Amino acid sequence: MSSNTVYVGGESIAPAVRNVTWTDRPWVRRQYQQFCGRFELYETSGLYFDAQTPEHDRQLISLNFLKLPTPLCKAALYLGLTVSTTKNPSTASGNHSAVYGDWERPHAQISPHLEMSAASLNSAVSLPHLVHECCHLFWAVQSKAAKLAYIQRLVVLVEERFGAANFVEVSKYAQDYFDEWRKLIDAPPEFGIASRRIRALEKWAMESFCESVAKACCPSYKEGEMRSTEYLLEARLLAMKAEFHFEPALRAASQ
Ligand SMILES: [Zn+2]
Repeated sequence: MSSNTVYVGGESIAPAVRNVTWTDRPWVRRQYQQFCGRFELYETSGLYFDAQTPEHDRQLISLNFLKLPTPLCKAALYLGLTVSTTKNPSTASGNHSAVYGDWERPHAQISPHLEMSAASLNSAVSLPHLVHECCHLFWAVQSKAAKLAYIQRLVVLVEERFGAANFVEVSKYAQDYFDEWRKLIDAPPEFGIASRRIRALEKWAMESFCESVAKACCPSYKEGEMRSTEYLLEARLLAMKAEFHFEPALRAASQ
């Protein structure tokens, strides 16, 4: 990655421009080529926007970014998040918003990129969507031990409090990941099933973490789904506090 560094009083600070190449982002495949190129610093948020991003989108995302729980912003800036928007109703990956990266690599090589679609930006969900996506960045920088301990708590909570058959997730999106994991638990033993189960469990834990934080920060998020999950959310927030020292809430000054 090459960059033009900004100097203030002889001190170098964040570069005003970053040029991200294919070499920096091995996760970039043919349909994601647009996520390489020139990214410009938006000083109020510290985020780097694709040079084509309209000013209105930079402003809106930066404003929302400054409302996020501090640990989410810290994770995003630490990992060097870049951002782009699309006029299409969905992202290149087919969602309303998405964050891409090489999650299995060391932090310095994850090179995450956030894409937000028109469907996300032009509605009330732009803030909870940003919370959800930045939660992936927070999740990526937690230790394996903390994540395992958190996942253990999730599983115990389901088994002791709800029972798998009656378990209602905080959103349909999270429920689909839970159901996928449970399907594999009940599936007959076959080659590779154990590792598929583990992957599904980790996926559910991660996506339900993102959805829970989004709901904790923005209580009206997906309220139309009419799920009664106050107890689950409370228990989950306790688990986040215990294992990640994380207590999600929007920053008071910006609410
Ligand atoms: Zn997600």
